Amino acid sequence: MSVRAIRQIGDPVLHTPADPVREFDDKLRALITDLEETVDAPGHAGLAAPQIGVGLRVFAYNIEGRIGHLVNPHLVERSPETETLDEGCLSIPGLWFPTMRAVYAVAEGVDQYGEPLILSGDSLMARCLQHEIDHLDGRLYIDRLTGETKRAAYRALA
Ligand SMILES: [Zn+2]
Repeated sequence: MSVRAIRQIGDPVLHTPADPVREFDDKLRALITDLEETVDAPGHAGLAAPQIGVGLRVFAYNIEGRIGHLVNPHLVERSPETETLDEGCLSIPGLWFPTMRAVYAVAEGVDQYGEPLILSGDSLMARCLQHEIDHLDGRLYIDRLTGETKRAAYRALA
């Protein structure tokens, strides 16, 4: 079990949809332990498995002092109300751009043993759920930017 190195933008694993988890074994639990240990640092709100080089649908979160995970998540509810706040990503260090997200979101999935698990929340938790599930679909938050913000992001990354 260990804190793992984080893959950076441009790494193919970050731009490829992750596969569903099918085996709920010790290997999966070791991966989840690594995700939870790696996300357990100041300024780390969420971490998806592709960010440590593993193309499986699982992420860990660290929100308001609570650390946990969700396997095979999908968003089942998103509020029509949105908010646009600065968002960052451990795979795009040092940059933050205003990103529109639903204020409230609910994600369904399972835990490390395959038992049903639902995560929901507003503000930071809602943003985390949407950001991490995007990672599992091979998308980064900058892919969601539009207009001048998108141009500024691509200039910063060039
Ligand atoms: Zn990210």
